[in-house]
Formats: sequence, C-alpha cells, structure tokens
Amino acid sequence: MALLELRNVTRRFGDFTAVENVSLSIEAGEFFTLLGPSGCGKTTILRMIAGFEFPDAGQILLDGRDLAGTPAENRPIHTVFQSYALFPHLTVAENISFPLRMAHHNATDIRQRLDEAVELVRLTGKAGKYPHELSGGQQQRVALARALINRPRLLLLDESLGALDAKLREEMQVELINLQRDVGITFVFVTHAQAEALALSHRIAVMNRGKVEQVDEPARLYSSPRNRFVADFIGHITTMEAQVVAAAGHSHLHLSVQGLGEIVTPLQKGVAAGDRGVFAIRPEQVRIGMQADLDELKNHFSGEVHSLLYQGDVSVYRIKLPNGKIVEALLPNSAPGRAELFRVGTAIKVGWRHDAGVFLHE
Ligand code: ATP
Repeated sequence: MALLELRNVTRRFGDFTAVENVSLSIEAGEFFTLLGPSGCGKTTILRMIAGFEFPDAGQILLDGRDLAGTPAENRPIHTVFQSYALFPHLTVAENISFPLRMAHHNATDIRQRLDEAVELVRLTGKAGKYPHELSGGQQQRVALARALINRPRLLLLDESLGALDAKLREEMQVELINLQRDVGITFVFVTHAQAEALALSHRIAVMNRGKVEQVDEPARLYSSPRNRFVADFIGHITTMEAQVVAAAGHSHLHLSVQGLGEIVTPLQKGVAAGDRGVFAIRPEQVRIGMQADLDELKNHFSGEVHSLLYQGDVSVYRIKLPNGKIVEALLPNSAPGRAELFRVGTAIKVGWRHDAGVFLHE
C-alpha cells in the first residue's frame, strides 16, 4: 500500500480551479517531487496534504486512512517552508526541540533526540547559537532538524532550497539526498527548478495548470517525455512539426519533416502512420562536424552555425537546418580550443542517430 495517496483531488478558489482531479501515489521512503511553473498548483497540493487547505473533491489518504477529519496538528506530517520560519529569539537547540517541548516530552527524551538531530544535520557545536548567527545553509539544517525531531511519517518541503545561492544550493541538494536516505522518511518536495528536481528525486510529478502531466523517474521524464509540455519543461529540447509516415511493422518510426525529408527515430507505442505532432531531440544527441563520418548517421543534413553560447565546460551551438529551423547541439569543451572550432556562419554537417529523439503527439 502507498504511504500517501491522492485520489481525484480538486481545489477551487472561486471560479478558478487551482488543482484539478489530481491522483498520486507516493511510496514509503520515496523522495517525491512536485515540479511545475509558478501557479500550477504545487503549493496548494502541499497545503492540502499538510491540512492547511482542504480539497473541494477527492480524498487524501495516509496509510490508507482518509485525512479529511484530521486537523493539521494531528497529522504525522511536517512542513519546511522556504523561509525556514525559525524563531529568531530561540537558540538552535531551542528551535530544534520546540516541537517536543510543545508536546510535553520529558527532559531526558528531549535531550537525547536533540543530540541525535543536531548530529544528523551536522550542527554539533552550534546548539547555543541564534539563527542570525548562522549561514543560510545552517539555518536550513536547523529547519530540517526541527522538522525531523518528531519523526514524522512525511516531510513536506516547499521550495526550501530557493533562498540559497547557487553554490550553497548544490551543497544542500547533496545533503538533502543523504539526509533523506539516512532517516528514511518520505519527502514530498515542491519546486519550479527542473534541474533540482532531476537531481534530488526518486520520482517527479510534472504539473501544468493544476493537472499532473506525467509521473516518472527523472531519467524517464528526460528521455521519454509524454508530451510537449514535459519535454520543454525538463531540460532543453528542439522541436519540429512532423507527421508519421511509417510505424507498426517497421524497425523504426519514419517521420516526415517539412524541408528535411524523412527522419528515422525509435518506434513508440501508440503512434500510427498519419499521426501529426512534433519531433523532439535533446542537444546532447545532436552531432555536428566537418567530416563525412556524420554521413553515416541515419539522419544527417547540411547546416550552418547560427549562434554559439560558450558556457565554460560546454558550448551550445544553434545550427540552422536546410528547412530554416534551428536545432541545438551541445558540445563538451574538453579539447583545448574546442570552443572555437566552429564559428558563426560556418557551413557544417549536422546529424543524429536513428535511436535519438522522440515523437510527441502534442
Ligand atoms: P509557486 O511556484 O508560484 O508557488 P504554485 O505552483 O505553488 O506556484 P499555488 O500556490 O498552488 O501554485 O497556486 C495555484 C494557483 O491558485 C495560483 O494561480 C494562485 O494564485 C491560486 N491560489 C492559491 N491560493 C489561493 C487562495 N487562497 N485564493 C485564491 N487563489 C489562490
């Protein structure tokens, strides 16, 4: 049985439907992420799980039990907000042990659990400090320790790394992964940052306008997006309108793309000759070069370097195809001078393998 289940959950604000018929099943021990653009309903879902907000329709079950009649304070769930919501006038130790003191635990129990929690989030030696004496990352750890000290079944994290600068954010991502693995508590994380979701999660629900578009493991979301929204939202992708020429009975899908002729791409379920949609390809699947070896690729064309973004470790080339479309190609700058190999305006070859790319209906 799933630890947490949302069954056809809907939440409206006046005429506006913020969450529409959402069903999700989250397993014990999972790091599960709700990912989507601002306003897609992620926080509203989190607030309903926590008990700060209530569904207009549908059910939320924890361990198979409907939470409808259980007020927020009686749910074995804790929320960590982006602001951390630490008490400024309380020390680290007092902040972390606050939930236990509220629940009237005895002093020995509080001390023992506090020591465990402080060690878990590596704040040993900081117990007597006040929040303003800590870095952003340390404040984040205090908030996590406070959230974990009651040993909740479920920890909800709302954009909780959002307030940190990029470098610290990356460090905290690694810490969060390790922490979640060590404590084994189920995490439901909300973010609009796709790279963060990919890095942290066991599974991700991609949301758009109150609905769930796809639930999958990060690698599957990236390689097999179900539709154009998911493809565009996760990573970079180039899309071109396409029509299926041949499908069932062939070893590959054959697509017709205006101005390029026929493209060969992996067979997919539910795709038939005549279907219209888009062909989508990731920048790291696109190869560019001067040599004829690109001609051996099933899909190859002549192109021209339209623009180039040097990013240190990699360069992103935008290549103009014969049909005028721009396709992105990602090249590592591993060899010295590599970034300057192809200048804007250079005529080059561009191609991709027959097992690259995906056809999307919408
Ligand atoms: P963000 O990433 O910006 O926090 P989100 O995906 O978490 O966005 P929600 O906060 O869940 O989005 O909000 C979803 C939609 O519902 C938004 O359009 C928001 O304006 C609306 N909304 C949320 N709460 C209320 C409320 N109490 N009253 C009216 N509208 C609301």
